Amino acid sequence: MNKVPFVTKEQVEEIVKTYPTPFHIYDEKGIRENAQKLKQAFSWNKGYKEFFAVKATPNPFLIDILRDYGCGCDCSSLTELMLSEAMGVKGEDIMFSSNDTPAEEFAYAAKLGATINLDDITHIEFLEEIMGKLPETMSCRYNPGGVFKISNGIMDNPGDAKYGFTTEQMFEGFRILKEKGVKHFGIHAFLASNTVTNEYYPVLAKEMFELAVRLKEETGADIRFINLSGGIGVPYLPDQEGNDILAIGDGVRKMYEEVLVPAGMGDVAIYTELGRFMMAPYGHLVTQAIHEKHTHKEYIGCDACAVNLMRPAMYGAYHHITVLGKEGQACDHMYDVTGSLCENNDKFAIDRMLPKVDMGDYLVIHDTGAHGFAMGYNYNGKLKSSELLLKENGDVQLIRRAETPKDYFATFDCFEIYDKFNF
Ligand SMILES: *Cc1c(COP(=O)(O)O)cnc(C)c1O
Repeated sequence: MNKVPFVTKEQVEEIVKTYPTPFHIYDEKGIRENAQKLKQAFSWNKGYKEFFAVKATPNPFLIDILRDYGCGCDCSSLTELMLSEAMGVKGEDIMFSSNDTPAEEFAYAAKLGATINLDDITHIEFLEEIMGKLPETMSCRYNPGGVFKISNGIMDNPGDAKYGFTTEQMFEGFRILKEKGVKHFGIHAFLASNTVTNEYYPVLAKEMFELAVRLKEETGADIRFINLSGGIGVPYLPDQEGNDILAIGDGVRKMYEEVLVPAGMGDVAIYTELGRFMMAPYGHLVTQAIHEKHTHKEYIGCDACAVNLMRPAMYGAYHHITVLGKEGQACDHMYDVTGSLCENNDKFAIDRMLPKVDMGDYLVIHDTGAHGFAMGYNYNGKLKSSELLLKENGDVQLIRRAETPKDYFATFDCFEIYDKFNF
């Protein structure tokens, strides 16, 4: 299997006449087809709703596409809430799944009528102080501790994660919330990230469904939804098989029928907060090769850097690279593909086999549609790129302009002495 870019060399040569590299480009068709499939996978559940994790790709033009499939927004910060509000997403269409939350962010979420998903038992009183009276519907984030296992091994380590209530705290928290007048409840858990197996959601669902039954029996809480959160991954490697979302939806349905339905909880809604799965494969970072360097290794220097895509530098993450126009050629040259930061980890690929790269070639860095642009920063005074949308009809639309030096210097605008530089 090979990864095929959704843009050709000819398309990119046309695009750069208006929007120079580097840029992130997103594939509307791919986003729509995937969102439709997710909706279908959970269509057996009457209340099903996906709250797109805004942090993954905080662009209103892209989130608007998802709204056509009934998606809401999962927010965890003030500006994510503001973005949702600006798009007209409010009330129960917002899930506020934050942690270590500042008071003003809770207040803003409450003002928008978002469903608040508490990360900690101490946040009950914290929120009550802010709001006076707690909302009628509240959710609590669960962290069972230990390790999270599926049949083929350990997936992640919730015991080391800062998030959520312990099992005991879930019961105590529900009792306290009930006493304080909360009427409807949800539970949430995010126990493993970027899972590329159809087993994660069903195994997580079973654990949460069993907890929900016990919570209902022991506290009498009216549980309205179970939020399986994010964590469904994508195949970043070219030979990796992706998830089958229909099989995942069906796996969750089986657990639902096995655990919730017999407990008289067949009306509970399933929620998800997927980010990566919704967007990652449908984004490319497009960059141009501007230098080649032959020293102790062979280097290709691009006009993008870790500021545009941090995952390789931060996690050593693999992102596949296609040299546009050379798709059919043998990968018989080994390169480190670098950016220009004064940091030696600013490498999109290390010892990567590619066709011979010539100066001026365009490189597509794959699977940058989630946690790509969004993780950008401004180290070395580097500016963030534009974002473009490849529409279904083939048109290209600017959906975020590139930063300019003026944006970079904007936070000095309160100092008169720097006015003269007219950034
Ligand atoms: C990051 C995050 C998500 C999305 O995670 P993905 O791995 O992108 O699916 C969902 N919910 C919460 C609370 C998160 O922090």
